[in-house]
Amino acid sequence: MSDETQTLTLDEVRALAAGIFTQAGMSADETTTMAEIVAMSERDGPRSHGLRMLPFYAESFVSGYANATAVPKMTRLAPGALKGDGDNGYFQIAAKAARDELIAMTRENGIAAFTCANCHHLAGLRFDTEPLAEAGLVAIGVVNSLSMVVPHGGERPAFGTNPMSFACPRDGQAPIVWDQAASAIALMDVRMAAAEGHELPIAAGLGPDGKPTTDPSAILETRSLLPFGAHKGSAIAMMVEILGAALAGATLAVDNAEREAHGGLNVKGGATLIAIDPTRFGNDAFADYVQRICAEIDGNGDARVPGDGRLGKRAQAEANGVQASTALITQIEGLLG
Ligand code: NDP
Repeated sequence: MSDETQTLTLDEVRALAAGIFTQAGMSADETTTMAEIVAMSERDGPRSHGLRMLPFYAESFVSGYANATAVPKMTRLAPGALKGDGDNGYFQIAAKAARDELIAMTRENGIAAFTCANCHHLAGLRFDTEPLAEAGLVAIGVVNSLSMVVPHGGERPAFGTNPMSFACPRDGQAPIVWDQAASAIALMDVRMAAAEGHELPIAAGLGPDGKPTTDPSAILETRSLLPFGAHKGSAIAMMVEILGAALAGATLAVDNAEREAHGGLNVKGGATLIAIDPTRFGNDAFADYVQRICAEIDGNGDARVPGDGRLGKRAQAEANGVQASTALITQIEGLLG
């Protein structure tokens, strides 16, 4: 793909994204939800999960892998346990449908969780947890994704890139929100590096010779990424697999047969959101503690509160729009016919 870019307003990003979802038959409300995810990805990052994902969303609908007209179902199984079935649609639609109930359950019980099986995910997890923090809750989100992360010391993938996100309210400021893949580098960044023809900054996967390499094309050949932080990231990937797939009763990362049949990139796994009401745990100074923890990071050399980078990008994108690849825009417009 050529590296020519053009500036788009966030409304123009929304319109391109909405075209893809509407064309697939999605309702107006759900189109708005999904188009907003694409626009927020271009605005805050990760840009690798914004416009660049639209051809994959389109492919998932055309191939019949994902359901554009999904109607998720929720069942409350215990005071703090809400079980979802995504009806083979995108998780964000199920999560939005569950949000008010999850928030009410959390306020009532102090802690509650929403698990969702039979759902797809192609975006950053930050957008799943941030609304819960905006409602005053601490949130942890996980998604188990396609098998491509090799456990520490292993030879073949056992986990997905299994991202997790953490969000927490902050007095007088936007919430703390971070999210990260369990792989050393996210798959979409490996794809972007391969498309742009440059090496990765670290050896993030295994090449065909079974050795760690910085060559993105060699890694895409084996689809074998390494976990971040050696055995520690490997353990996090396992935790996400258990919380995302096992708890939700969803597809394990290694059970990819259906995806392979449809040729899809996207994940059809499981997702779990755990929400905690900090006002129900008996520490009236919770918000002060959070401020102090952040104050120990900000201004500490070059350290910054994880995830705060998105706020600068957000302000910049809202003021000046975002840079998007001209070739990608042409590809998306081509899909819209
Ligand atoms: P990054 O390594 O780019 O960033 C991880 C987190 O750290 C972000 O919250 C980032 O936020 C923050 N961060 C980055 N640099 C710093 C720094 N110097 N100091 C403090 N914080 C920092 O993310 P990944 O490559 O691991 O993941 C990319 C995205 O892919 C995530 O959004 C993830 O949810 C998504 N993903 C989605 C999958 C799916 O199945 N849908 C699968 C795997 C990943 P910021 O820079 O804004 O501060």
